[in-house]
Amino acid sequence: MKIQNYINGEFANPVLDNWIDNYNPSKGEVYGQIPNSTIEDVENAYLAAENAFASWSQTTLATRSKILSKIADLIRTKVTFLAEAESKDNGKPISLAKAIDIPRAAANFQFYANAITQFSSEAHESVGLNAINFTLREPIGVVGCISPWNLPLYLFTWKIAPAIAAGNCVVAKPSEITPLTSYLLGEICTEAGLPKGVLNIVHGLGTSAGQAIVAHPKIKAISFTGGTKTGAHIAKVAAPMFKKLSLELGGKNPNIIFADCDYEKMLTTTVRSSFANQGQICLCGSRIFVEESIFEKFKRDFIKKVSELKVGNPSESDTNIGALVSKEHLEKVKSYIDIAENEGGEILFGGNKLTVKDSENGYFLEPTIIEVSSNKCKLNQEEIFGPVVTLMSFKSDKEALELANDTKYGLSATVWTNNLNRTMQFSKQLKTGIVWVNTWMMRDLRTPFGGQKASGIGREGGFEALRFFTEQKNICLQYE
Ligand code: NAD
Repeated sequence: MKIQNYINGEFANPVLDNWIDNYNPSKGEVYGQIPNSTIEDVENAYLAAENAFASWSQTTLATRSKILSKIADLIRTKVTFLAEAESKDNGKPISLAKAIDIPRAAANFQFYANAITQFSSEAHESVGLNAINFTLREPIGVVGCISPWNLPLYLFTWKIAPAIAAGNCVVAKPSEITPLTSYLLGEICTEAGLPKGVLNIVHGLGTSAGQAIVAHPKIKAISFTGGTKTGAHIAKVAAPMFKKLSLELGGKNPNIIFADCDYEKMLTTTVRSSFANQGQICLCGSRIFVEESIFEKFKRDFIKKVSELKVGNPSESDTNIGALVSKEHLEKVKSYIDIAENEGGEILFGGNKLTVKDSENGYFLEPTIIEVSSNKCKLNQEEIFGPVVTLMSFKSDKEALELANDTKYGLSATVWTNNLNRTMQFSKQLKTGIVWVNTWMMRDLRTPFGGQKASGIGREGGFEALRFFTEQKNICLQYE
C-alpha cells in the first residue's frame, strides 16, 4: 500500500517522488511505502495552511466545535478498523489499541470541541483610571505538530485538536515509523467537513520533512513530542526565529513502593506501568524502588505476575505484549540488557528475544526485570523505552526521594503509600511534572501534562494547550 501526504484536503505523492518502506513490526516485513517528503512538500503544505488561515481563524467557535465533534464521532465509529491499523503499524496489542489509543484520539477531538467554547479572554478594570483592559487570545497562524511512534494517533491528535480548535492551520508530521493511522485521519477530516488546508499531513523523515517544518520561517510555533536529543536540536533551530515551543520529551520515571500500600492494587498496576505497550510509553515506571521490608516478597510476586503475561502476535485478543516498533529499536533495547551484568545488575526474569508462532521475523522481546545495585548505572540513568524495568530496595523515605530525583529526566513519578504525610512530602518534593499516588496513567484531559528538567518545556492538556496555540494581546481602552 502507498501512503500519501494530505495537503489542501487532497492526497498527494511527494514532489520528488521519493518513498520509504514501512514495516509491520510483528512480521518483520515491508507492507507499504510512505512519502520521503522534502522541503518542497512542506512548502506546499505551508501554502495550503496559510491560504486556509484567513477563513478558518474567523470561523465561529460553534462551527469549529461542531467539526471537531464530528471528527471524534467518525473516529469512534471506526475504532476497530483504526485499532487494527495501529496494531499492524506499531506492533502494539490490538486490545490496547482498541481500549486506549483510538478512543483517546476521539476523546482528544471531543475534549477540544468542548474546551474551545469555554476558553475566554480576560478583562481587568483599572479602577480610578477610567480604563478597561481586555486580553485577546488570537490564533498564531500556521503551526507545526511533530509526533513520535509509540502512541501514534493518540499523540498526533493530542496536538492537532487544540491547534485547530484555537483557529490555527497546521502542518503536521507523524513518525515515519508509524504513519498509517495519521494517513487515515486525513480522510476522516475531509468526511467531517474540515475545510481544505486547515490540516496538512506531511510524511517523511525527521531530518528532512521534520527539519523543514521546524526551520520554516513562517511556521511560528512547534509542538513536538519525541526524544530529548531531538527536542534539544529543535530548540536550537527554532531559537533564532523566536518560535513558540512545546517540547514533550523522554522520561526515566520512578515507581516508589512503600510497605504500607494497597499491595494487590500496586502489584497489578506495576505490571501495567512497567510493560504496557511493550514499555514504550514515556510514562512507564522503568525504575522500581521498593521499601526493604517487602522487597523479597515483591520480587517473587512481581516475577510471577510478569511470567503470566502473554507475549505474542499483536492481532490476537489475549496478547499482553506485542512486538517492539522496529528492528533498530529492538537492538537498542537488547543492548541495555546485554550490559546489565557488567553494570552489577542481575537479570531476574526475561532478557531474551523471542520467536512467536506465525510471526517468526517479528521484533519480540521478553518482559525483562533486572535487579540493580546502584542508581548510577546506565540502566537507571538512560531511557531504554522498552519492556525492561530495574528493581532496587530502599531503607528510608529520604533515600527513596533521593533515588527518584537522581536522573536528568523529570516527567512523571508514581508513589504507592497509604500514609498521608508521606504522600504530601513526595508529591511536593518529586522533581517531575506529574505525580501519581496509588495509581498510574490516570489522565483527566483538563490537567496540565508535561515534564521538568530534560523531559521538556511547556504543558499540554486542558486550557494549557489552547494557551500555547494562541498569542495574547492586551488592549487598554480609556474612556471619558
Ligand atoms: P524522535 O525524537 O526520534 O522522533 C519524534 C518525531 O520527531 C518523529 O516524527 C521524527 O521523525 C521527528 N524528528 C526527528 N528528528 C527531527 C528533526 N531534526 N527535526 C524535526 N523533527 C524530527 O522520537 P521517537 O523515537 O519517535 O519517540 C520516542 C521518544 O519520544 C522517547 O524519548 C519518548 O520518551 C518520547 N515521548 C515523550 C512523550 C511525552 O509526552 N513526554 C510521549 C511519547 C513519547
